[in-house]
Amino acid sequence: MPTPVYLDYNATTPLASEVLEAMLPYLRDDFGNPSSIHQFGRRARAAILDAREAMASFLSASGSEIVFTASGTEADNLAILGVVAAEEEEARPRKHLVTSTIEHHAVLNVMRHLEKRGFEVTYLPVDRSGRVLVEALRGALRSDTLLVSIMSANNETGVVQPCGELARISHDAGALFHTDAVQACGKVPVSVEDSLVDLLSLSAHKLYGPKGVGALYVRRGTPFKPVFRGGGQERARRPGTENVAGIVGLAEAATRARGLLTGESARLLALREEIAASVLREIPASYLNGEGAERTPNTANFRFDGVDGEDLVKKLDREGFALSTGAACSAGAIAPSHVLIAMGLTPREVQGSIRVSLGRATRAEDARAFATALRAAVEVARSRSEAASA
Ligand code: PLP
Repeated sequence: MPTPVYLDYNATTPLASEVLEAMLPYLRDDFGNPSSIHQFGRRARAAILDAREAMASFLSASGSEIVFTASGTEADNLAILGVVAAEEEEARPRKHLVTSTIEHHAVLNVMRHLEKRGFEVTYLPVDRSGRVLVEALRGALRSDTLLVSIMSANNETGVVQPCGELARISHDAGALFHTDAVQACGKVPVSVEDSLVDLLSLSAHKLYGPKGVGALYVRRGTPFKPVFRGGGQERARRPGTENVAGIVGLAEAATRARGLLTGESARLLALREEIAASVLREIPASYLNGEGAERTPNTANFRFDGVDGEDLVKKLDREGFALSTGAACSAGAIAPSHVLIAMGLTPREVQGSIRVSLGRATRAEDARAFATALRAAVEVARSRSEAASA
């Protein structure tokens, strides 16, 4: 059986061996609690300080603006709920929030929760390519808009949003701007100096770091209150004994990702374009979801008429190619993609879509073998459904 080919890097990435090496001392000898005053504690504290500076440099921020969290999901929750908590201490709190219809559930479900608590949320539409409409944001902003939260890059389509422009428009209206950059970090340049966002979430396991650790950038001066109650860690913004090894791993992963960014994005873009050209040329009635929009270089979301995406993913898995339909899978059931629905695809089109996401271990021969296997799998699926309907 040949080695399986992993083409699901947007779901998660393997831990880079250098990242594991950087983490190991903090799982073994340097296991101290960073809050302890003895040498064990001091070593752990120094490691976190270094990691904080590395993350600040990764984002062009300063160390005091970085809050380590237990995941990208937690960073998203903390961003929105932390701003809301600070606003609720005001005499006349603003109660309007803006987001988009294609956000990750880590943002969407926080917004739904806040709606139940009396907030009004505007969900911005996207165009057929999956881009948030800048004009729609202009029209949605109000004098009582507290926060706008728009992702930097979409996990299913890879479509990159113009966050710098969206942040500027939000600021002009007096609102704060948060971006979920979980899928952008490590794939496209991300700088809070350039984009001027107020808050930004990221996650280690999407950039060859460990699972269960993330970070939230909070621009200095942003009104923000903690959501959990506990100790004074993370400058009283996120209590809990720090995941020292995880934080060290995140910083190492981010630093490596920055060093590899230019070379890897060019390499993956070439491979992705080769796959896309082959698919669109060789497979009749095949399409690219998100076509025409700027996308992260590693991601392609394809659609095939008359084919079930989930069946295709299962068939390709049996043949040694691991990819995804792109939609969230909970309790073993795949819900139809809210992202593709928001882009105006019909339920049938949504059902016929799959996501391919490449990464560091993807080689040119894997990309070619995959394109060939995909073509064969689509042909088989179509001939079966024709036979069934005959
Ligand atoms: N936001 C986006 C865009 C994601 O793709 C993900 C993970 O799939 C998350 C947030 C959540 O990150 P984590 O898995 O670290 O909770």
